[in-house]
Amino acid sequence: MRRDKLAWAQLVSEAEAKGMALFDYLLERNAVQMEMDKDSVFRKMEDMLQVMEDAVAFGLTGVRSNSGLTGGSAKKLKDYTASAEHKKQGLLGPVVGSAVIYALAAAEANAAMGRIVAAPTAGASGILPGVLMSLQEHCNVPRKKLVEGLVIAGVIGEVIADRASIAGATGGCQAECGSGAAMAAGAAVYVLGGNGRQIDDAISIVFKNMLGLVCDPVAGLVEVPCIKRNAGSVVQSILAAEMALAGIGSFIPADEAIDAMDKVGRALPQGLRETAEGGLAVTPTAKAWTENYFKGIRG
Ligand code: SF4
Repeated sequence: MRRDKLAWAQLVSEAEAKGMALFDYLLERNAVQMEMDKDSVFRKMEDMLQVMEDAVAFGLTGVRSNSGLTGGSAKKLKDYTASAEHKKQGLLGPVVGSAVIYALAAAEANAAMGRIVAAPTAGASGILPGVLMSLQEHCNVPRKKLVEGLVIAGVIGEVIADRASIAGATGGCQAECGSGAAMAAGAAVYVLGGNGRQIDDAISIVFKNMLGLVCDPVAGLVEVPCIKRNAGSVVQSILAAEMALAGIGSFIPADEAIDAMDKVGRALPQGLRETAEGGLAVTPTAKAWTENYFKGIRG
């Protein structure tokens, strides 16, 4: 028998019907699914947060990717942020600024073959740590709350994977970085005291702003444009969370926005779904670099 697809609104209603706090209900649900007790699930998420923090620390050392194509951006932006020039004319405020630095760092750690947490994929692995670590630093969010935020983010990712896709090869970058941004936006709303309905709004706002984003990695490597897309995605994420927390609702509910993302993804031409045959991957600069790169590998 075909089961109904997972729905964020349904999960929120179920928690309410049981008279449980959303987090408690989702943790209990995860524990049943994973056949673990709740404390073990929580510890598992704590370990994931540690891996994220380690990835950011590794990225901030200025690592370069094995291909030589990318690296060092996180450190460069961090150094610039600390400079007198930035104090005079810096554009990003502290929350967004740090989130961008940390997102770049984790994404660069991934490109340098460091250990990361796929959130929901390796290509989008900078967004969630970027947002959460910045909120910890600037909004005094305790570590325990961040772990709870990871649980919320994980369930949002599960809903998206069930209703649509989290793979660039299926749905374009909206399915990877878009989903990562939706997960981080939901987690941000939660850790800052928002409710399930506001998380719904934040998820939807993210997809409204990221619908149609194509997957076009240069040489098929998860570097260009992926690393900077992680940086751009944290901005969308924080924007959506701030709007939702302000009480700005989304006309389209999250589950419907996710369904729309699925349809848009399937309508994307094959060349814009991780094949490296379209978009930025076929610009003259990308093609010239790719040719040299593969010539170097073949020897
Ligand atoms: S461009 Fe493609 S490979 Fe890169 S992060 Fe987006 S979906 Fe992943």
